Amino acid sequence: MHDVIIVGGGPAGFTAALYSSRGMLDTFLIEKLVSGGQMATTYMMENYPGFEEPISGPDLALRMEGQARKFGTKVINDDVVELKLDGKIKTVRTTKQVCESKVVILCMGASPKELGLPKERQFRGAGVSFCATCDGAFYKGKTVAVIGGGDTAAEDAIFLTRFCDKVYMIHRRDSLRAIKLLQEEIKSNPKIEIIWDTVVEEIVGNFEVEGIKTRNLKTNETKFIKLDGIFVAIGSSPNTELVRGMVDLDENGYIITDENMATNIPGVFAAGDIRHKTLRQVITAASDGAIAAYMAEKYINENKW
Ligand code: NAP
Repeated sequence: MHDVIIVGGGPAGFTAALYSSRGMLDTFLIEKLVSGGQMATTYMMENYPGFEEPISGPDLALRMEGQARKFGTKVINDDVVELKLDGKIKTVRTTKQVCESKVVILCMGASPKELGLPKERQFRGAGVSFCATCDGAFYKGKTVAVIGGGDTAAEDAIFLTRFCDKVYMIHRRDSLRAIKLLQEEIKSNPKIEIIWDTVVEEIVGNFEVEGIKTRNLKTNETKFIKLDGIFVAIGSSPNTELVRGMVDLDENGYIITDENMATNIPGVFAAGDIRHKTLRQVITAASDGAIAAYMAEKYINENKW
């Protein structure tokens, strides 16, 4: 039996792993895909302390993983398919094995939200993308639209101007949610045109994206915009399917914890973007992970095994 199983290898998961394994706990981390979670899809980060020059998301992810491994964390890439959390001993079933632990730390993060339009899934990889960092380079000399008005949409729009001739930013309101610094960068970038008060009603194309039909929410005017690609950046939703009905969630599906990252189930903690919180950043995910691991150690010491 492990002391701690961590589900998810983003900044929360790897920081929890670092603190847990450095605290001499037997620590096992299960990551479905690649290390870093959403951070791995971030081109450059300039708000993670300690790096005067921006560091790439994948680079920081690899460093976090390496640091956790250095202290003894075992890492596997596998899909968790079932969690049994209510007893004193927790059971985690993956596609390949069943493992047990005294503590589980849930760090499954969040995934990009979809617009919910027909063809949105069908054209994924054929003009519809949820990751500008991953797919931007395919659009050299092309015209694309970014949907959304938050920090992600703003960063995506700016990033895409490296490759694209023209980037529309389509936002449903008349002001951006993104921080002022990004708003200024957008305003001064001649390749970016913001289309305000507008929603996408239809993705147009037969085998790939050829354009979109939009509607202005103030005037009701509809328009066709010819495009080569659409980048959806309208926020994210928590990856809590595995724990629905077990762990207390808020109305948006995020896990409710106390300030010690404890959920309603003894021995089960949650950290990072999966958690109900005000600010979802790499730094706050890392902070959550550290607290969760510290409290996990305390929980193990206080309970007889
Ligand atoms: P977000 O802040 O939730 O913004 C989502 C945007 O999409 C909003 O502008 C929202 O419009 C719009 N939107 C939501 N649903 C929509 C729909 N169905 N149709 C059209 N538009 C829709 O999400 P985010 O930009 O991904 O950021 C998430 C968190 O990560 C935030 O806390 C953000 O600060 C943080 N983040 C930080 C950085 C950084 O520090 N460098 C980078 C990226 C993200 P409304 O404005 O009208 O609600």
